[in-house]
Amino acid sequence: MFSYPPIDEQILDLIRSRDEFIVLGHISPDGDCLSSQMAMNSLLLKMGKTVHMANAGPFDRSEISHLRADFLSHIDKELYDRSPIAVVVDCSSPERLGHLAQEIEGLVTIIFDHHSSGELFGTHRYIVHRSVSTTLIIMQLYKALDVEISQEIAEHLFFGFATDSGFFRFINAYRGETLRLAAELVDLGVSPNTMADRMTGGKSLGYVKYLGKLIDRSESHFDGRLMVSSSCLSDRDAFITTDKPSDSLYAMLLSVQGVEVVLFFKELEGGKTEVGFRSSHQSTIDVGALAERFGGGGHKKAAGATVQNDIKVVRQQLIDAVGELLSE
Ligand code: AMP
Ligand code: MN
Ligand code: MN
Repeated sequence: MFSYPPIDEQILDLIRSRDEFIVLGHISPDGDCLSSQMAMNSLLLKMGKTVHMANAGPFDRSEISHLRADFLSHIDKELYDRSPIAVVVDCSSPERLGHLAQEIEGLVTIIFDHHSSGELFGTHRYIVHRSVSTTLIIMQLYKALDVEISQEIAEHLFFGFATDSGFFRFINAYRGETLRLAAELVDLGVSPNTMADRMTGGKSLGYVKYLGKLIDRSESHFDGRLMVSSSCLSDRDAFITTDKPSDSLYAMLLSVQGVEVVLFFKELEGGKTEVGFRSSHQSTIDVGALAERFGGGGHKKAAGATVQNDIKVVRQQLIDAVGELLSE
């Protein structure tokens, strides 16, 4: 049985006693990151604090573009000079804050995170690797500070949990506490049905066709133990590609018999390549550690990296690296 460790009194005292906060999350924010930022923002507002949310973005994915105006993209000198507390959520290293890392340097910084790889940073940390999402960590903070969770906040907490758990699919045995926390949120008025629609719906037909193309392009290596797909720059003209090829691409490729690892390569402007990593439930391969070797990070079963190199080179290097891991 797992239970969340208590939150350091020093962290709780800082939150209780200080007046102004900036809540930050990682670049290319996902559902867990944005929901954690919004739930943290609401917690601090309920405690009567002055709060700013900041994120380096981009906010170009259609499902999050409406949120752009709620987040600062820079910390100006006037704000910095008031010495607010920086609260960083769902972010495992300063680089993942983008340019905001430099802009909060020197501030008291509290980290709330669940990533298994990365770099310890900040002045105070509450990191729970076994938490399926950062939002469930923020939920512990609501409880520790005895702040009421409204239906709207419960929806943020559930949404982050839903995105990072693949809607309950990535939860292991003896992790009943995760389901009990989800049940508490449902009793606070969250509809899992509505959340599922919000998570997977609202896509354009162009996006679905793009997914189809990526599935069509997928290839298997090492007797089907590795599945690879990729997206090139010219896909931008043919499809809607600003939305991430979500969980559904990985789910399709992971459903192939015998697959252990899935790699997805996306060619970016300026000769850069974004890589998405997933490993199957049965596999012992830690893709977070593999992504870290390429300058990225994440979790054992889901990770990412952005590499400053041509897609063909990165692709071959990673196929070789997975081949080595599979033969160990
Ligand atoms: P994604 O494939 O973008 O859904 O990311 C899967 C997991 O890897 C998430 O937990 C991300 O936070 C993490 N991740 C993605 N890209 C990076 C990166 N460049 N560096 C560190 N962690 C990453
Ligand atoms: Mn995230
Ligand atoms: Mn997360």
